Amino acid sequence: MALIVQKYGGSSVADVEAMKRVARRVADTHDAGHQVVVVVSAMGDTTDDLLDTAAQLTAKAPEREMDILLSAGERISMALLAMAVNELGVQAQAYTGAQAGIRTDSHHGRAQIVGMVPERVARAVKEGQVAIVAGFQGVSEDDDVTTLGRGGSDTTAVALAAALGADVCEIYTDVDGLFSADPRIVPKAHRLRTLTQEETLELAAHGAKILHLRAVEFARRYGVPLHVRSSFSEKNGTWISDSPANPELEGLVPSAALVDPKDLTMEKPLISGIAHDRSQDKITVTNLPNNPGVAARVFSICAQVGANIDMIVQNVPVSDPTLANISFTLPEGDAQRTLEALEAARDEIGFDELRYNPNIGKLSLVGAGMRTNPGVSAKLFAALSEAGINIDLISTSEIRISVVTRLDDLDRAVKAVHSAFGLDATETEAVVYGGTGR
Ligand code: ASP
Ligand code: MG
Repeated sequence: MALIVQKYGGSSVADVEAMKRVARRVADTHDAGHQVVVVVSAMGDTTDDLLDTAAQLTAKAPEREMDILLSAGERISMALLAMAVNELGVQAQAYTGAQAGIRTDSHHGRAQIVGMVPERVARAVKEGQVAIVAGFQGVSEDDDVTTLGRGGSDTTAVALAAALGADVCEIYTDVDGLFSADPRIVPKAHRLRTLTQEETLELAAHGAKILHLRAVEFARRYGVPLHVRSSFSEKNGTWISDSPANPELEGLVPSAALVDPKDLTMEKPLISGIAHDRSQDKITVTNLPNNPGVAARVFSICAQVGANIDMIVQNVPVSDPTLANISFTLPEGDAQRTLEALEAARDEIGFDELRYNPNIGKLSLVGAGMRTNPGVSAKLFAALSEAGINIDLISTSEIRISVVTRLDDLDRAVKAVHSAFGLDATETEAVVYGGTGR
């Protein structure tokens, strides 16, 4: 017997038919002798629809009320799913985030989990019931409903899996797992059988949309094995674990979810996947005095306005070493505030110009094998130059190389690099069953 947390995204419970299919899967897992906790997202586009409705009433909805509104989407689906599971003769009870003991801070719309006390859930499961928990929500110290940010149900599921000591957290979506690149850009992308948590974190942090970043962080911190798979097929998806060869996994997971031994023994390839990101912008501050403390001043202003800086490059022109240019990238939503704050400090800092470029794209190549293999950057740059694509900024970690290109070169860059690293599948594998990719 294993304790399994299953998270179903909005596309998996979009309508009554989908809901019934999910209920069947939940009941089957329970009937196979496992303890099952389910986390569910709002049906289909419910969250977007609620946001649209609110926007028609006010341009500035109070954050507290917004969270009450948005949390309703998940409450609807948890109640309906519990009914559908009961209908199949398996006892199921629905719990809100607060009832499931998900305690958060009070930052509405982007609350962080500060404590997990899922006693009721644990009790229900011990008594042989299926517990169905509303994703994406918690309760603050002031007893207010909070939400965890868009896509936050993944985080609910992984946090519950960690707190309950689950054997696996299954993330159900409408594609067969994680792919070597976005199949909409690279139709020959292949399904990844396994990924380390570190690789998944790099991919999620650099634009891959399939998992909520905080969910991956949680999984890594608490060592929760994840299985990302489709609720529309029985296929094995992508296993994410830092010890994928852990033999314990095999006996513990149900046969439907049993990891294919091939997946465990396969030698890790050099490169696992490519993430891309269109949502960043670039700012260049020109002709700064090249003195100690100047960069600190620029970035403390960015920090004061809450801008999340990603890549940074400084160059000092050979012709005049007393000056420096600093370029950096940041989320597009942070750009205007940052430009205004820097402009206001122009005389104090003493720069010439602020140049703003919203039309950039970022490609990130990720693979744990990079750590021990030289030559990856040479190959990446060669592939891009053969495709006639210019590289603007570069940044690296131990297992990632990111480059910034022009926005309209990005798709071509992703395709070229995918082929150059031999990642193209021989047949098209990626199937999107539902339509929302969630
Ligand atoms: N329903 C929320 C959203 O659409 C949370 C989630 O689906 O994870 O963002
Ligand atoms: Mg942009």
